Amino acid sequence: MRITISKENYLKAIAEAQAEGELVIAATLARWLDVSPPAVTMATRRLKRDGLIEVAKDGHITLTSSGREIAERLIRRHYLIERMLTEVFGMEWYKVHEEAEQMEHAVSADFEARLAEKLGDEKACPHGFALGLESKEDRHRRGLIAMHELPVKRLAIVVSVFERDRGLLEYLDSLGIRPGAMFEMLAHNADQTLSLLVNGRHVPLGHGAAEKVWITVLPSLESPSPLGVPQPVRL
Ligand SMILES: [Zn+2]
Repeated sequence: MRITISKENYLKAIAEAQAEGELVIAATLARWLDVSPPAVTMATRRLKRDGLIEVAKDGHITLTSSGREIAERLIRRHYLIERMLTEVFGMEWYKVHEEAEQMEHAVSADFEARLAEKLGDEKACPHGFALGLESKEDRHRRGLIAMHELPVKRLAIVVSVFERDRGLLEYLDSLGIRPGAMFEMLAHNADQTLSLLVNGRHVPLGHGAAEKVWITVLPSLESPSPLGVPQPVRL
């Protein structure tokens, strides 16, 4: 089924906003896609007519199974393009999202298959996300926490960074905060900012930015793990 780029963007936005834990109503889409409320009204009417979304009486928007299929295809192409741009062409990790937003609509099924064959679908995208959408709960379930949740004096490694804010990505990159980077939490300050130690540098970071960075905590050297407790010797 061929649909317009605009419709594809709506379907993907619904899937992504939902995964980020947002209640998806017209206003959510207007903000997410940076379009006017009347434009959203018109688009949702068409998507509903095409059987791609459902709109509940309270305005809550969900994808039908065919709507979800299209969104997931785009998300997979987006993921493959981002990886192609960084892994094959060496493009900076903070630039590839916007590039992929354009290119994902132009990829044929044939090219998608070639990309998947070349790159595989094991590795994370340059922002640290595996293939497919993951909710905040899913991330917590696999042991990740958001950066602002890290206790003081603990070390952690950056796993993923929310990709839809280019300014934030560039800013974090300039501070050395990118997937794979190690840092230490020095302080949670009274003004809601954090003080981090990154590459030997003291780095202040606002709460809003830290919320968008997901990390894995390294084991503490000070408090021994249960495995480190001496076991009684059995004779
Ligand atoms: Zn992206």
